[in-house]
Amino acid sequence: MPLKSLTINGFKSFADKTKIDFTSGITGIVGPNGSGKSNITEAIRWVMGEQSARSLRGDKMVDVIFAGSDTRPQMNRAEVTLQFDNSNHELKSQQENVTIKRKLFRNGDSEFSINNKNCRLKDINEIFMDSGMGKQSFSIISQGRVEEIFNSKPVERRSIIEESAGVSLFKQKKQQAENKLEETTDNLHRVSDIVSELS
Ligand code: ATP
Repeated sequence: MPLKSLTINGFKSFADKTKIDFTSGITGIVGPNGSGKSNITEAIRWVMGEQSARSLRGDKMVDVIFAGSDTRPQMNRAEVTLQFDNSNHELKSQQENVTIKRKLFRNGDSEFSINNKNCRLKDINEIFMDSGMGKQSFSIISQGRVEEIFNSKPVERRSIIEESAGVSLFKQKKQQAENKLEETTDNLHRVSDIVSELS
């Protein structure tokens, strides 16, 4: 599921519409301190559904909208678009090309879309499920995260390995199945109580 392009408009330091095309192989982004390299990875996490303003180095979500500079006024909207080549169908979609878009307005209104069709955050989360990508995945390792992984406790490190190996999805499914089983057992008890009351 190669990334094809990222388009950023009004997100953090990107006041001008900026498109990055990812060709095959490795793409390196270089620039002086404070030039916006981390903002690019944050834009990717944001469009994939990141909901924590803190993890995007802000206090509230509208902090991701271009806040203005000495030479230009603040903007009222941040918009990020990510295009994937989905010919191997690793993303949960029948489409060969998948474009996801997120918009946020200064009044707090927000929009998600998949292939230009408005959708919910849940749909964005679902399309990445099982793909090894997604905002929580370890396909994005931000600054400080490597150190954090090395310094983490064995139990925490285990959960990182499980996530990378794709085990956590099955653990989640197992938990859901167990909850359902418990619910069904409760229902069966209730039914047998009613039956014994009636007989
Ligand atoms: P370093 O190499 O030091 O890690 P970097 O290239 O990763 O730097 P970033 O951290 O991505 O740089 O960008 C920081 C810049 O983004 C700062 O100049 C900051 O003022 C600017 N910035 C962050 N949020 C906004 C915003 N909402 N509006 C305008 N500029 C912003």
